[in-house]
Amino acid sequence: MTKTLHAVRGMNDILPDEAEVWENFDVIIRDWLKGYGYRPIRLPIVEPTPLFRRAIGEVTDIVEKEMYSFEDALNGEKLTLRPEGTAGCVRAAIQHGLTVGGGRRLWYQGPMFRHERPQKGRYRQFHQVGVEALGFAGPDIDAELIVMGARLWGQLGLADVRLELNSLGSAEERASHRAALIAYLEKHEDALDEDGRRRLHSNPLRILDTKNPALQEIAEAAPKLLDHLGDASRAHFETVQAMLDDAGIAYRVNHRLVRGLDYYNRTVFEWVTDRLGAQGTVCAGGRYDTLVEQLGGKPLPAAGFAMGVERLLALWLEGGEAEYAIARPAPDVYVVHQGERAQRLAFRAAETLRDVGLNILLHCGEEGSFKSQMRKADASGAQLALVIGDDEAAAMEVSIKPLRGGGAQQRAPFAVLAEAVLDTLHGSSDDHDSHGMIEPENAGQDAGVKDGSV
Ligand code: ATP
Ligand code: MG
Repeated sequence: MTKTLHAVRGMNDILPDEAEVWENFDVIIRDWLKGYGYRPIRLPIVEPTPLFRRAIGEVTDIVEKEMYSFEDALNGEKLTLRPEGTAGCVRAAIQHGLTVGGGRRLWYQGPMFRHERPQKGRYRQFHQVGVEALGFAGPDIDAELIVMGARLWGQLGLADVRLELNSLGSAEERASHRAALIAYLEKHEDALDEDGRRRLHSNPLRILDTKNPALQEIAEAAPKLLDHLGDASRAHFETVQAMLDDAGIAYRVNHRLVRGLDYYNRTVFEWVTDRLGAQGTVCAGGRYDTLVEQLGGKPLPAAGFAMGVERLLALWLEGGEAEYAIARPAPDVYVVHQGERAQRLAFRAAETLRDVGLNILLHCGEEGSFKSQMRKADASGAQLALVIGDDEAAAMEVSIKPLRGGGAQQRAPFAVLAEAVLDTLHGSSDDHDSHGMIEPENAGQDAGVKDGSV
């Protein structure tokens, strides 16, 4: 017997029940991004390997051990499945001249790939929604990026997401801190773990965010980058905090928040929850003022963030507006039929109703009894069933049977099918919208929006 094949470890199939949750999430995301003027950009999943080495940094978890890299079998070019979206977005912006002509707000979404140990909330193919604000130097955009996140958590009904904030200063300020940090860590070299000793001279900053319980005390007492900030970086950071205060957003300045990618400077932040176990960061980002130049463009300040969709959805389903998260689109009409002539008329009827914008599920395949077809119609969630048997077919008529909230079955000439069905739909249900989406009970109440996109 042939062995069945499975998906690659750490790469998930997203089946219809779950994929519908993703679609509900998408509706909210698109609306939210429009509210801040972000425009979509769609980028390749494969990029030249040197892009990530240059952007993310050689001595990072991602570049050292997490990238899916391979050689193009035809021309030997070194390629990598993108582990994150910022590098590709900046590459595209430079390549197509999006770096000139003032600030731009861009967003993307899609799968990312990292060869990590799979566990809850950590996969080898996972998805991010990312935003990049290119060409903005001031602290206002940093604060806007953060406020944006807070608004989304509110719209999703997520309560337990908290903000951690830090400033990584400039390259010079980091160099000054680095010297102090290395001197300090060298005094504790014997206590460091293998990772720490390896990083001591290559990337000592990363030792600060170690998860190793044995190193917490050493990391906590290490020299703080904040003490090495110059006036400009300090003022920038203070304005970000003042704007967050104005917006009523609580945060904790965490001097050990350094982020795992080398391109960050000044403001960095993470949104964290305790509800997802060890994989609690749902969104992370910051400023990256040198990346555009590093990738060959003219110097251009920029900032952005990426959220982990799997983690956010897990949180949304667990708490949040779970009812809205799992709302299923139902068809408006389920078409049942019996007999050959009826089948052909039913086929035409379904198309006629789609012409007026209705969502139709036509009974297809094995005919079965009327009774079993009606059971399927009911289970589909449709508002009504269109019933066509020999009788109806002979008379060029259809029967319309409301499935929810009572109402009598009626017969109508095929010629006025659409009108008759629309009349029945609008008379028979008022919690129904034209997309067939079940509205959440409380959706949009706060924002005063009333179209299912909270
Ligand atoms: P972590 O510390 O969890 O490894 P990171 O710092 O590597 O995260 P980023 O590169 O900042 O993560 O990516 C932004 C967000 O993408 C993370 O906050 C997380 O929500 C999500 N994310 C990152 N790696 C994974 C993964 N392997 N599986 C699922 N989500 C991920
Ligand atoms: Mg990681």
